[in-house]
Amino acid sequence: MPTLRQLFLRHVAQTSDIPLALEIERAEGLYLYDSSGKAYLDLISGIAVSALGHRHPAVLQAAREQMDRYLHTLVYGEFVLAPQVRLAEALCAALGPGFDSVYFVNSGSEAVEGAMKLAKRFTGRPHIVACREAYHGSTQGAASLMEPTTFTHAYYPLLPGIRHIRFNHSEDLETIDRSCAAVIIEPVQAEAGVRPPDPAFFQALRRRCTETGALLVFDEIQTGYGRTGSLWAFQQLGVVPDVILLAKAMGGGFPIGAFATRREIMHCLSHDPPLGHITTFGGHPVGCAAALATLRTLQSEPWIAEVKDKEARFRELLRHPALREVRSVGLLLAVELESFEKVREVQLACLEKGLLTDWFLFNERSLRIAPPLIIEHEQIEWACRTLLEVLGAV
Ligand code: PMP
Repeated sequence: MPTLRQLFLRHVAQTSDIPLALEIERAEGLYLYDSSGKAYLDLISGIAVSALGHRHPAVLQAAREQMDRYLHTLVYGEFVLAPQVRLAEALCAALGPGFDSVYFVNSGSEAVEGAMKLAKRFTGRPHIVACREAYHGSTQGAASLMEPTTFTHAYYPLLPGIRHIRFNHSEDLETIDRSCAAVIIEPVQAEAGVRPPDPAFFQALRRRCTETGALLVFDEIQTGYGRTGSLWAFQQLGVVPDVILLAKAMGGGFPIGAFATRREIMHCLSHDPPLGHITTFGGHPVGCAAALATLRTLQSEPWIAEVKDKEARFRELLRHPALREVRSVGLLLAVELESFEKVREVQLACLEKGLLTDWFLFNERSLRIAPPLIIEHEQIEWACRTLLEVLGAV
């Protein structure tokens, strides 16, 4: 009889030749448990998904209650479905002025795709501006935004009309002109290995977009839902985007994403021709119910308010000669080591000790630390102690 691991390697499509292949039996709060019962402290939250930890009771209850009413009914946008309506209302209130319309999708990449189409449609313009070393997703539209092209050149041709600027470089903003439909940008460049934003750059970017009529689209797929110490990262930058993209932590572990903007902008997807963007499962009622519970829980608990304190504790404890640099914005931290080989070695040794870390797409010399926001000081101390022990040993 082949083992589950053997069947995984045989039948589940692989994304690399070196999968961690941890056999997950269950997950609870801050911990994942493997088939031998061993616990792993989750320092990556399924890549910024499990902000509330795994299987938060409020999320489970909301999902269960919705499962007892109905699952999928009809393609998104046709029926009045209470979980969608309530979630859209709560999201608009939480996003504040400038957001009164939400389009639900299934993932981050789809939110990016929807926003790219929306911007082209609303402005009638062909060009889209993105930042070098940004990650916006793996579908062909979202992947077209990627530069360098290490991960994408094998799939050419991708979308034409994409222009690139450097993150935090105000002198590059001249690239944005009246032919640009949108600028799509992460408020913190996550996959570049946590590159914090310069508020002056973002304010100049906002002005340039307003001057030229390009929509400013913030990809908060990784930074949203409290990760950086405020519900949305844009709240710390003194600028409000025209469109915001959400996913990952949104569903509390269920797959859901969204793009939100003003009604006058969103409206253009509904006419001439209608059905400008459609999705069968986007805004799935169970995902929406779970997402509303996630949002409400984050709004009523102290976790977001505690993020900066916990970030400071990590920074205080993460001191070691092998650490070249620690970069962070809230509970999104990058610990830079000397090489990818070192990162891999440290990651595997940490795993051995029951600590789950990861690396970054565009910065393989850095270890990713992005725990559930519910992590407590005791676990932060244990995690850092373990990491330093490993660093001393490898
Ligand atoms: N944008 C950002 C900033 C992301 O971090 C990711 C996923 N890592 C995506 C978009 C794509 O999201 P998804 O994997 O859900 O398609």
